[in-house]
Amino acid sequence: TPDTHADGELTRQLDRTHVFHSWSAQAGLDPFVIAGGLGSEVWDFDGQTFLDFASQLVNVNIGHGHPTVVAAIQEQAALLATVAPANGNLARGRAAQAIVAHAPAGMNKVFFTNGGADANENAIRLARLHTGRDKILSTYRSYHGNTGSAIVATGDWRRVPNEYARGHVHFFGPYLYRSEFWATSPEQETERALRHLERILQSEGPESVAAILLETVVGTAGVLVPPPGYLPGVRALADRYGIMLILDEVMAGFGRTGAWFAFDHFDVRPDLITFAKGVNSGYVPVGGVVLSDEIAATFDHRVFPGGLTYSGHPLAMASIVAALGAMESEGIVANAARIGTEVLAPGLAALADRHPLIGEVRGLGVFWALELVVDRGTREPVPAAVMGRLKGELMARHLLPFLAENRIHVVPPCVVTDDEVARALAIYDEALTVVEASL
Ligand code: PLP
Repeated sequence: TPDTHADGELTRQLDRTHVFHSWSAQAGLDPFVIAGGLGSEVWDFDGQTFLDFASQLVNVNIGHGHPTVVAAIQEQAALLATVAPANGNLARGRAAQAIVAHAPAGMNKVFFTNGGADANENAIRLARLHTGRDKILSTYRSYHGNTGSAIVATGDWRRVPNEYARGHVHFFGPYLYRSEFWATSPEQETERALRHLERILQSEGPESVAAILLETVVGTAGVLVPPPGYLPGVRALADRYGIMLILDEVMAGFGRTGAWFAFDHFDVRPDLITFAKGVNSGYVPVGGVVLSDEIAATFDHRVFPGGLTYSGHPLAMASIVAALGAMESEGIVANAARIGTEVLAPGLAALADRHPLIGEVRGLGVFWALELVVDRGTREPVPAAVMGRLKGELMARHLLPFLAENRIHVVPPCVVTDDEVARALAIYDEALTVVEASL
């Protein structure tokens, strides 16, 4: 109707006049406007629907508008909409219990934060206080969030203009397609990446290192699934030198990889787990840190010097309880796993067979990347202009994509259906055909 079209125009006008956007030069921005959503689809003010194959910012694991989660937030708002963190709250206790139910034995406490960045911020603080050591090792090609230490732990370009925190050291993790170690097999990549990490530890002085912080599956920097043996090898190095292992499950956790936690695939036990995004699909901002009993005990008789007004906010807590409950009762994590192995893996492989632009397909669950190259032999990444054209072709066919550098990340909600994946694959196919023809 004309009214809803006018709302779309108003949204655009207010946005351009008053809203300052993340990670952008502000002039010339023209954000896509979303009016509503349900499941794996969103729609604009003109009633046009789009497949959300970005899950917004890879966080809407349970899909849009899940009625149980919406109702739980409404009920909690009517009961008690906010509470100071020092007070006890039933929703908070239940949320923590629901989270640790999926964690390894010996991890029983949760510190809640407002999102993923401050989850990593506090995990780093916990590791430093627990060990009495200072340095934090993390990888190039990682994203850990946009606050003091989290952004400096980050290994992509966003770290560089923000380097105010101290004590951060970076190393290369495994990435066989563009191996830093001249490796030609996953086994070689694992062996050499572990040797590189141990040399970095020895060169930094292992007794000065508080923690190794890793995304279990690197997300924004490329959906880099660690090769067999890598994460257990990192765990062994951490144990050898008395270093804490922090696994960042902010993007990979709660169903994205087809498991509750991504590390469930890799036979590794962290000391601290950071989470956000998928824990409640972002219906209310929240994140947190799951602590090993050993680290938690450090603060039994010693003050933990950290806190947040909204640590364990009741609306977020109610949404976590409802979201995790629905994920269990509706088999949503199992759906993500099945879609990954039965539908996305063969579907994306078939796409790669048809399109020389696709250099590599990698991923698991509903967490995939197509790496686009000018030439399969040289593996030279496609230029930004090609990615821009591709984005236009995908949007024109009503698919919201997640694009990063020379990659399409295929990251639908965990509730995505076979039919929706089939529609998306047809759209990727058409868009790639059009762009290839124009080269
Ligand atoms: N860690 C990872 C792996 C992420 O992908 C993100 C966000 O994309 C963060 C941390 C930061 O989370 P937030 O944006 O909620 O602060």
